[in-house]
Amino acid sequence: MPIALPQETMTIMNAPIGDSHKKDIAHALHPYTNLAVHEDQGPLIISKGEGVYVWDDQGNRYLEGLGGLWCVSLGFSEPRLAAAAADQFAALPYSHTFAHRSTEPVIALADKLLEIAPEPMTKAFFLSSGSEAIDAMIRFTWYYNNGRGLTEKKKIISRKRGYHGVTVAGGSLTAIPLMQNDFDLPLDRMIHTNTAGYYRYGRTGESEEEFATRLADNLEQLILSEGPETVAAFVAEPVMGAGGVMTPPATYFKKVQAVLKKYDVLMVADEVICGFGRTGNMWGCQTYDIQPDMVTCAKQLSSGYLPISALMISDKIYDVLKEQSKKHGALGMGYTYGGHPVSCAVALETLKIYEERNIVDRVRELAPRFQERLSALSKSPLVGEARGVGLIGALELVADKNTREQYPAELKIGATLAARALNHGLVVRALPGDVIGICPPLIITKEQIDELFDSLSIAVTETEALVKKAA
Ligand code: PLP
Repeated sequence: MPIALPQETMTIMNAPIGDSHKKDIAHALHPYTNLAVHEDQGPLIISKGEGVYVWDDQGNRYLEGLGGLWCVSLGFSEPRLAAAAADQFAALPYSHTFAHRSTEPVIALADKLLEIAPEPMTKAFFLSSGSEAIDAMIRFTWYYNNGRGLTEKKKIISRKRGYHGVTVAGGSLTAIPLMQNDFDLPLDRMIHTNTAGYYRYGRTGESEEEFATRLADNLEQLILSEGPETVAAFVAEPVMGAGGVMTPPATYFKKVQAVLKKYDVLMVADEVICGFGRTGNMWGCQTYDIQPDMVTCAKQLSSGYLPISALMISDKIYDVLKEQSKKHGALGMGYTYGGHPVSCAVALETLKIYEERNIVDRVRELAPRFQERLSALSKSPLVGEARGVGLIGALELVADKNTREQYPAELKIGATLAARALNHGLVVRALPGDVIGICPPLIITKEQIDELFDSLSIAVTETEALVKKAA
């Protein structure tokens, strides 16, 4: 489709239109940014936050419709988290958990997390980011299978468009071209299966259930062609986040898990976005009836206030790790900042707040309004599908609603819409495939949900007009 949008809209991802924010960015290197354009235009500088809002350095207010990076569940000014951090800084700002050391916040957080964890998780290993949790999952998987004498069983399967971080190993599972091309990823041992997005990948006339069956069959074929004795684990986000906010088709995880069981392949749930209420249950595993062997979580674990993640494992895995650590003298794996006491204290306080404020019930109460307003946007000729669950959602933008044809990526329709939203005081994220991701703080009110979608509607209408003008 040979159309070109007016120059002012050809903006870099999530950057403001115009140059009111122009700054020298002499030394900071910013990820997921067109560095050349960025040098010229400068970033949007966020200076303060309160509730669901943030302000830039020019005093403009924005409703943070992505909760930072899918993480700020309790908003940008929760005093109890600041107090928990201050108290812990005063009591003990650092201590490690290597070699038979621990701290009270680590122990208390592990107890609390495992109390609410998906079954059958019984141990938590703390790290500082989602990527590190994924990396630890890979290391534990390999160690586990070596411990079982299955030294060939090492391949990890993820889904195309899945997002599992950017470390060399995690980035090999993140099957998104932008994050792999020219970084010499993926590493071998990491293989990819179909994306579970019915709207984009379902065939004409195929039901959701049939689509799920096809994907489970393809997964089985992949395992068979690689050799089941070489395949160790399958990792999936319950709702795929950064790859395009895709909810799984009906019956998908049931069918996939039957295949995994048959070939002794571990099921790993990457709950880094879904964990802690986002989908209307404490875990995405509960929303989609997933029985995981390992679970990763991060982000909302501390409401994004401090870096912390966890890898949770079941006894089945722990028992083998324990035997292996005996053999080697120790579990040879840990980070300086893993189980940082201040991060753990803040995470513990976050979990207490979720409990006290019934955060899951709150999401369930608000989700109908959120999803109703989201769905209403599918009337736009630009919106192929509006989809979501709980308080997460997306708009997939298309050139033709009948054929689901997309605009050429160079047009940056998604980024244009996100920039328009920003002009109307709303932060949303343009994801690959011209998908607009929405994932506000869980403390958002009904009125603020309306405000979010009022601004988004205006941005959709303006983008429609731009496209029409340019056609
Ligand atoms: N897994 C999922 C599902 C994620 O969404 C992310 C980040 O967005 C990660 C892993 C990586 O987390 P981090 O950016 O903290 O390394």
